Amino acid sequence: MSTKLSVVSFPRIGAQRELKKLVEGYFAGDVTKHDLCGGSRELRQNHWRIQQEKGIDFISSNDFSLYDNMLDMACLLNDIPSRYRDLSMDELDRYFAMAKGAQNAKGDVKALELKKWFNTNYHYIVPETEEGVEFKVNGDKPFAEFQEALALGINTKAVLIGPYTFLKLSRNKSRQSFSHLLDRLIPVYQEIIKRFSALGMQVLQIDEPALVMPMDTDDVEAFCNAYQKLLPAKGRTRVLLQTYFGDIRDILTRVMELDFDALGLDLVEGERNLDLIEKYGFPSSKQLFAGLVDGKNIWINNYTATMDKIHRLLKCVDRDKLVLSTSCSLLHVPYSIEYETKLGEAYLRCLSFAREKLSEMDDLRELLEDADFHRNERFLANQASISELLNHPGKRRQEVRAMVDGLTGTDFVRQPAYEERIKKQKQALRLPLLPTTTIGSFPQTTEIRKLRQQYRSSKINREEYAQQIRNSISQVIKRQEELGLDVLVHGEYERNDMVEYFGENLEGFLLTENGWVQSYGTRAVKPPVIFGDIKRSRPITLEWITYAQSLTEKPVKGMLTGPITILNWSFPREDLELSEIACQLALAIKEEVMDLERAGIKIIQIDEAALREKLPLRKEEWQSAYLDWAIKMFRLVHASVGEKTQIHTHMCYSEFSDIIGAIEEMDADVYTFEAARSDLSLLRALREHNFTREVGPGVYDIHSLRIPTYEEIKAQLEKISSQLDVGNLWVNPDCGLKTRGMQETLPSLANMVKAAETFRSS
Ligand code: GLN
Ligand code: ZN
Repeated sequence: MSTKLSVVSFPRIGAQRELKKLVEGYFAGDVTKHDLCGGSRELRQNHWRIQQEKGIDFISSNDFSLYDNMLDMACLLNDIPSRYRDLSMDELDRYFAMAKGAQNAKGDVKALELKKWFNTNYHYIVPETEEGVEFKVNGDKPFAEFQEALALGINTKAVLIGPYTFLKLSRNKSRQSFSHLLDRLIPVYQEIIKRFSALGMQVLQIDEPALVMPMDTDDVEAFCNAYQKLLPAKGRTRVLLQTYFGDIRDILTRVMELDFDALGLDLVEGERNLDLIEKYGFPSSKQLFAGLVDGKNIWINNYTATMDKIHRLLKCVDRDKLVLSTSCSLLHVPYSIEYETKLGEAYLRCLSFAREKLSEMDDLRELLEDADFHRNERFLANQASISELLNHPGKRRQEVRAMVDGLTGTDFVRQPAYEERIKKQKQALRLPLLPTTTIGSFPQTTEIRKLRQQYRSSKINREEYAQQIRNSISQVIKRQEELGLDVLVHGEYERNDMVEYFGENLEGFLLTENGWVQSYGTRAVKPPVIFGDIKRSRPITLEWITYAQSLTEKPVKGMLTGPITILNWSFPREDLELSEIACQLALAIKEEVMDLERAGIKIIQIDEAALREKLPLRKEEWQSAYLDWAIKMFRLVHASVGEKTQIHTHMCYSEFSDIIGAIEEMDADVYTFEAARSDLSLLRALREHNFTREVGPGVYDIHSLRIPTYEEIKAQLEKISSQLDVGNLWVNPDCGLKTRGMQETLPSLANMVKAAETFRSS
């Protein structure tokens, strides 16, 4: 019997982002509900077939979602806050109202909170559990999808987010304790399992990634109790407990004792799982789904290293109990390299996206069955590609290595200290109390996207392109002046994406044409690939920012992406330490900062939207394994500017309260934060920490489809100023406006400016 293959989950957006187009079309009223459902079905079926053709034995269903799997799970469990329940909308529109907010004749509600999914750039919708919630099975999405696949002859393993992870990641707004809520969820999960079982499902996959987070004894007990009650409901369906994004050191031996039929462990990011198995053994009654193919990075699998891991495993696990799997969902990598026409063969040989990873699994199965695998053609080809990758001439730039080696302690420290320089900045900038500004980007119209497209495909020349970008800049400057904003931006029309743009303009990156990865809901990003040493060979933003500044008396903020965010939103090379890559990036962005300052730009914003993303999941590793170098590299970017140059930074969509100290150590002068969607819990953290810098907690949520009223913003300002010193406050939306339309943006900003003005004069 040959070794079996499993995929944790498959990307759902489609090869050409079909899902995005369908859902956005539905929002715009161009796609009917019928077509949305039909298009979705086609995507699912396509993805099942692809996996079937590649010989995957355990294919997932319910990994599809119209917006987000956590939101799906909340709906399935009937964990729907009453403000959405009260809307007179059908199921589908209510679902989207929870995801995106809604403002129309049927109701006016904000969206649920959006948060980063563990240490990835995927964002999930945070369910909210209210007092009086009635957990019960609601709707039939997972059952219907299972049957849909069954009709195609595929007995899929449905994927469910397990009750422990579901509650750990939800917001508990009830008066009941975690363990009480967990208890109440169990009967619902039991019923779900029974229904699957009745439908003939062979394997059910329950995802519990929260097990890779630190767990105390109460957590371990709560988990074990829950599953002791839950698992007897499984009948003939076998249950796979799937974990990913790290090792499960706090609970591994305990879950081995529970009645799961299979354990899915990440052996890429969670290499320690392997040591633990060697130490404690693995129960002979269970299958091990060994996550050996990296679901998070895009380099080809190194078969030598993987075969080595497999052979270590086989000393502890029976051969027929071993299943080869991906380390996590393939949602975090793009669809296929098949659509890359511009990267040379040599580069393509070392890249592996979702579809290619399926072939890698098939290769590994063959190698596992080949006693003489060292001489197997697939193995030899892989060895050759790996060595080609590591020895590629584009990897090393001597001058960059020399710059990094030449850095000393003072290169990381800005002088004079904040308290002294902020006074000088205030005198020089002469801004009013509560200065108003935006986070950088303005709505990106179809014309702008088309323009960049035409330029990229050489349909228009550089001068035509630049002329049109300048027109957009001059319009947006005018608009901002009309609105009465105090600190202006150039609108970021030249960028498709804040990271990809810098990737395109720095050396050392590979850019894909179609390497889309879902970031949240309908938003996908195209992370650049860090291939070699990074260098800036020419100014990047200078032309646009100085042009914008030439049009106005008001200060225009220079707008850059910081090194940590570029690193965290790219696919990094694996042959150099992350801290070293960050250092190269910091030196490159620093050159841009210095050019902007020299050109007379007084305020420079260095975005670190993704600062928290690669924070280790275990707190004891935060400082030494990450923050120590990450914060230092941010400081390197701005440490050499003059005292009057004001450095801003912006952060969003994550919890900041527990890293406020590190954030202050970044030593920026002004910090704008996403805050509107997370109930301003940040304010308390800032106050408790005695945060000394100027701050702009976002006063309205830009991802919501609604226009915030003037009263709402004013109330928000009152709330903020009751907690923080008004003299240190800025007024701004909570993130860039690129995903919005101008028709909502202008009235929203007008309301914001009006609120700030009234507040100032009161
Ligand atoms: N400056 C960027 C923008 O306005 C920041 C985006 C972000 O924080 N994600 O789009
Ligand atoms: Zn943001």
